[in-house]
Amino acid sequence: MISDRQNIQVSVAIVGGGLSGMSAAWELYQAGIDSLVVLEANDRIGGRTFNQLHPKIGYVEMGGTWVGRTQTAVLDLARQLGVATKQGKVDGATIYGYQGIWTMHEDNPSESATPAQKDFAQVMAKFEQLSQNVPLDAPWNTPNAETLDSISAGEWIDRNTETIEARAWMAGSIRQGIAGDPHQVSMLFVLYFMANAGFFDLRETAEDYRLVGGSHSLTLKIAEHLGDRVWLNTRVREISHGDRVRLVTKRGVIQADYAIVAMMPKDAGKIHFDPPLPAIHQQLISEWQQMSWIKFFCLYPRPLWWGKAASGHYYSMDTEAEVFDVSPDDGSYGLLIGFFEPKYSNLSEVERRKCAIQTVTDMFGAGAAPEEYFEIDYTQQSWTSGCVAALPPGLLTQAGAALNEPVGRIYWAGTERSTRWINYMDGAVRSGQHAARQILEQLI
Ligand SMILES: Cc1cc2nc3c(=O)[nH]c(=O)nc-3n(C[C@H](O)[C@H](O)[C@H](O)COP(=O)(O)OP(=O)(O)OC[C@H]3O[C@@H](n4cnc5c(N)ncnc54)[C@H](O)[C@@H]3O)c2cc1C
Repeated sequence: MISDRQNIQVSVAIVGGGLSGMSAAWELYQAGIDSLVVLEANDRIGGRTFNQLHPKIGYVEMGGTWVGRTQTAVLDLARQLGVATKQGKVDGATIYGYQGIWTMHEDNPSESATPAQKDFAQVMAKFEQLSQNVPLDAPWNTPNAETLDSISAGEWIDRNTETIEARAWMAGSIRQGIAGDPHQVSMLFVLYFMANAGFFDLRETAEDYRLVGGSHSLTLKIAEHLGDRVWLNTRVREISHGDRVRLVTKRGVIQADYAIVAMMPKDAGKIHFDPPLPAIHQQLISEWQQMSWIKFFCLYPRPLWWGKAASGHYYSMDTEAEVFDVSPDDGSYGLLIGFFEPKYSNLSEVERRKCAIQTVTDMFGAGAAPEEYFEIDYTQQSWTSGCVAALPPGLLTQAGAALNEPVGRIYWAGTERSTRWINYMDGAVRSGQHAARQILEQLI
């Protein structure tokens, strides 16, 4: 029971202490706004970036892990906070498995390439070309936006491929990014997501670096500076807004000049707004889908697969599982990180462990007996509704314009609202900074 903090007044209240909310707070704090509070529902900050301590290997990153070299917002923030980077890239190109056969894609397949490889290269090129037409700050203005938003990415792939293998590879490539079935997701959204992240552009990857101490270090360092401006275990239940913003929590009521709601749109939908948000915002929040992975770890005494496996990154269309080798350079232990799709949530942990071991054995020849298996199922987290966002057909053209529109004194952040690297840590930092700057324009 905390009574000493009831009914305080601040200039800015930030709801959500993930990377986005903490970046917003940091931006404001550095601009001289020290009358602020971060209200975080969980008993820790970091949201989808957090470390779990491990007795043998120090820690593991349970959420966001890799950073790409064009993800300059998160890299700049790391530099500013004194968080160093280390090599993130795993060895070798991605190897895709389909019906038990493992293949490496070629962008420019030779004459002797299989029909499936040629088909995949042509559909990928077509996809990339379309994604280049998407204006990042207003994807709803893409040429033929309504048509592209009326079909799912899955339907588009079905129409634009001739071979079953290329269809599966293309669907698999999209699944890797959105953690779900391309048939559930708008084609326009997938084009926007890919353009926004440069996902299929080999010059722009998302896995060049990792952060020393883990991605959690970023929010932990910001929290050190903010001190008691960060309130944990403080879920915001209700926000009433008008001349000021009133945020109701179990620790009391916070009156603020401005608020930033920094979380997944779906999670924002669990807050009661009074008066209700305009219809377009309600639609955005209620129809936004969250897709969830199960992230798993297989720890071995050493990387038994080194010298045997063809690459450090495999994706299987058969099991819809992706695995990266993240063993340290000195080989002092072997660590594989994998991702299962949400349907694996229906299995027990024992069954998932069995599937994970079978998967890494098929991919890496890793051996059937890891020293340890552990996992996190994002469908089961209390305060976050999933891993990454994906929009169903129709939503982006109908309600997308509300993404970054403040409602009175309420501003929005969260990686889903970024116009660059949406769904990534970089997008979280950018969206937090953007919301903070919007408020600074009002305050200064
Ligand atoms: C398994 C996994 C792997 C990933 N891998 C990568 C990767 O390798 N590279 C990369 O760049 N990105 C990766 N990501 C994505 C990245 O982690 C996220 O994009 C980023 O962390 C999102 O930050 P955020 O602040 O926008 O949202 P969140 O981290 O979700 O933060 C929102 C916060 O709001 C809090 N909250 C919710 N409701 C309330 C409420 N009512 N009151 C108060 N607080 C509330 C939540 O507890 C949470 O702390 C991964 C994500 C997952 C889940």
